[in-house]
Amino acid sequence: MTVNGTPWQAKALKDAPIVIIGAGMGGLATALALAKKGFKDIQVIERASGLGFVGAGIQMAPNVARILTRLGCWSPVEAEATDVLETSIRDGASNQKLAHVDMPNIRKMYGYPHCTGHRATLAGSLYDACRLEPAIKFKFGHSLRSIESFAPHTTFTLQTEAGETLQMKAAVLIGADGVKSIARAALLSKAGLSESVEDTGQAAYRILLPRQAMESDPEMMELLDSNQVTRWIGEKRHWICYPIASRSIYNMSSIQPDDNFAAAPSSTYTTKGSKKAMMDVFSDFCPLVLRMLNLVPEGEVCEWKLRSQKPLPTWVHGSVALLGDACHPTLPHLNQGAGLAIEDAAVLAEVLDRAPDANPESINKCLQVYETLRKPRTTALVDLAALSGRTLHLGQGKAKEERDKQFAEANGGGKVPDKWASPEVQEMIYGYDCMQEAAAKFDEEYKNLERSISNRL
Ligand SMILES: Cc1cc2nc3c(=O)[nH]c(=O)nc-3n(C[C@H](O)[C@H](O)[C@H](O)COP(=O)(O)OP(=O)(O)OC[C@H]3O[C@@H](n4cnc5c(N)ncnc54)[C@H](O)[C@@H]3O)c2cc1C
Repeated sequence: MTVNGTPWQAKALKDAPIVIIGAGMGGLATALALAKKGFKDIQVIERASGLGFVGAGIQMAPNVARILTRLGCWSPVEAEATDVLETSIRDGASNQKLAHVDMPNIRKMYGYPHCTGHRATLAGSLYDACRLEPAIKFKFGHSLRSIESFAPHTTFTLQTEAGETLQMKAAVLIGADGVKSIARAALLSKAGLSESVEDTGQAAYRILLPRQAMESDPEMMELLDSNQVTRWIGEKRHWICYPIASRSIYNMSSIQPDDNFAAAPSSTYTTKGSKKAMMDVFSDFCPLVLRMLNLVPEGEVCEWKLRSQKPLPTWVHGSVALLGDACHPTLPHLNQGAGLAIEDAAVLAEVLDRAPDANPESINKCLQVYETLRKPRTTALVDLAALSGRTLHLGQGKAKEERDKQFAEANGGGKVPDKWASPEVQEMIYGYDCMQEAAAKFDEEYKNLERSISNRL
């Protein structure tokens, strides 16, 4: 058989073509994880003409560092990352400290650090590691347009930037095409299900302050030279800020009610925001925050619409599976969206590595095991992130008073209402080794599936 211009004799799945849609964190990690397992024919299809990653910071927790270390691409990220050793949660208006949580032992407790870094460095490191793998090929400037068949092999259509179309086939197709996934729409439609995108009513500004711009302000320099993540919170809004890129940049990321996108008919989720609109939304925040916001040059304010999705009934159909934001987009309150996509990638490689053969039925079972292993965790973390957001964004009233009391008690080791900073939640997120779990549970889950299929016959 000839597929995509090359002979395809899929005696073993490792020789068969695997196509990944999307070169985001999830897609790149999937390609790399599969190549490390010995898969020989991996193609990554990306709509953009290059990587073109967002200029913004990212928090990377031990669960991510563990996987990237195993994939051999963590060192360049760690070299310029900042270890997070403490977090300060402050009232946005008064700058008064609500809670201060020290976390000096994360590296010791989990074997890997919790740190902050630049997205471009993380993506660049994944990409560079992919480029060292002869098995991985990239096709930039190509978009998935439709999926024609899901099994026994998958056939699908790509479209180039010039509008030309291209038919492709693969043994496995992974939709890592983000929150607006075309693969998800096609898969749900094929399964007779409909999409249920949830509008969160929230948007986010992301800005980067260069060190030079902050140098004359000692209060700002103290933040930049710290190992601290600082949150300023107010009703329905907050800023979360931390140093990145060897402390040459202070990263600031907000959440606020989505007023601008709600009115915009545009299909995109990002836009150049107006500096005045941003300053107005946070006009009641303290002078320190306002001074920092004021440093942003006009034209460099970016705003994101935050989308969510009701848990999908399935992530898998035939030989097609979804991954990352395509199947479990999350609000950023736990800082785990990219982390979960990278965990998905690592688990997918573990299960496909254990496929007994290249038969479409076996592939489908492996993909179902992947979903079974991943869904409970991703659903739990997505729910927890939403809960944390509701708690952080409370307005005046009893619930807020109770929350602030808990924040005050957190200083003495009590429960932390900001779930991201809570030691129990950290243990659940950071202590979890998804690859180990996949390796331990694969055989049992695979047999369970075989049993339930034969019981249905
Ligand atoms: C404000 C904010 C802060 C965040 N902070 C953190 C954090 O600190 N830590 C963390 O872990 N996560 C964080 N996240 C979440 C994280 O950014 C996402 O969860 C993560 O990027 C998802 O990765 P992905 O690969 O699934 O999707 P994406 O990164 O969206 O990648 C999808 C890729 O697919 C491509 N694509 C789309 N459609 C097609 C098509 N039809 N054909 C071909 N290619 C296509 C896109 O161009 C893109 O390159 C944050 C998110 C926001 C909004």
